[in-house]
Amino acid sequence: MENKRVYFDNAATTMVDRRVLEHMLPFFSEHYGNASSLHLEGIKAYQVVEWSRNQLAQLVQAQPEEIYFTSGGTESNNFAIKGLARSSKKRHIITSPIEHPAVLKTAQSLAREGFTLSFLPIDNKGIVKVEELESMITPNTLLVSVMLGNNEVGTIQPLKELSLITRSKGVLLHSDAVQAVGNMPVDVKDLGVDLMSISAHKFYGPKGIGALFVRKGTNLLPLLDGGEHEQGKRSGTYNTPGIAGLGKACEIALQEMDEFVPRISTLRDDLINKILHQIPEAYINGDLKNRLPGNVHLSLPYVEGEALLLRLDDAGFAVSTGSACSAHNLKISHVLKAMSTDVLCAQGSLRISLGRHNKQEDIDAFVQVLADVARDLRQMSPLYRASKEGDRHV
Ligand SMILES: *Cc1c(COP(=O)(O)O)cnc(C)c1O
Repeated sequence: MENKRVYFDNAATTMVDRRVLEHMLPFFSEHYGNASSLHLEGIKAYQVVEWSRNQLAQLVQAQPEEIYFTSGGTESNNFAIKGLARSSKKRHIITSPIEHPAVLKTAQSLAREGFTLSFLPIDNKGIVKVEELESMITPNTLLVSVMLGNNEVGTIQPLKELSLITRSKGVLLHSDAVQAVGNMPVDVKDLGVDLMSISAHKFYGPKGIGALFVRKGTNLLPLLDGGEHEQGKRSGTYNTPGIAGLGKACEIALQEMDEFVPRISTLRDDLINKILHQIPEAYINGDLKNRLPGNVHLSLPYVEGEALLLRLDDAGFAVSTGSACSAHNLKISHVLKAMSTDVLCAQGSLRISLGRHNKQEDIDAFVQVLADVARDLRQMSPLYRASKEGDRHV
């Protein structure tokens, strides 16, 4: 018999919802036409593309013409930042030190081409210091790019406040909202963003499909030259099954958000409380209030993160150390570094990202195992033993 697995890595990717999969299937084999073709097969494909565009527009309160389909969050971030950079004479970009690599590395690649980069400082809870923005903006500033929900420590950034400043200064605001869209309410009008990146596989849709919201009237050059799909801004034959899946994931999120957001947030808070009460010296990174519904990020001093992850995996729990994208190099996470969390503790940090399928019993079982594994690993840590010796002599 296979051991029961509990999946707590929904920030890395989610399971495709059964209903999403069912909705996608006909577009592989039955309605396989090219959405740009004028015959019946093409029209069937085109219809689902436009239906999905409408679902996504509704989910984020945009107009359908403001949605451009892409291959996912990484492309959307590249498209937004490079597309703007190429369309303007301004040469200064402001971002934050806790962005996803798809934003950070894009900005750094523009810096090598001669752009100037500035980083909005963040506080030790992992939230950008809004009050610093205004004085950083110059007449040469093109864009401010700040994510909505952080993929490591789960902080929700004050986009609305940032947008009041960017608006008043005539600067564009982009947000990587990949962790947030489909997992909490997101409204582009309320946030005041001009561009926003979205990815289906972070909210129970398929991998390899996403979108960029571009506010009407924003001048953006394409990354890809080709057949002029998507109002000439994103060429390439439509990924109709993927787009159908994205649309269905949006429809489900719209219908069920009122139920799953409070449910997952309650599980998250329960897990946080149990960790703080049952695991000595554990602490929670990020902000307890402005936090993605499913994110728990903790540090365990004197425990090595990778060892912890592997022991938990053996016990049936899939979690992450910091960010999945940096899991294979043991460097300290750029997010924790920017928050000036001390290096020893950052070594033993763990991200537990809850999803729609997790249950109370998963949380309870997890805390038990985590407490045991943490105790075990600490027994093996010379640093931990030294610290306890120290205590005894005081
Ligand atoms: C996952 C993720 C991305 C990348 O999205 P893909 O669709 O996997 O390319 C970008 N930004 C954030 C915040 C993410 O969590």
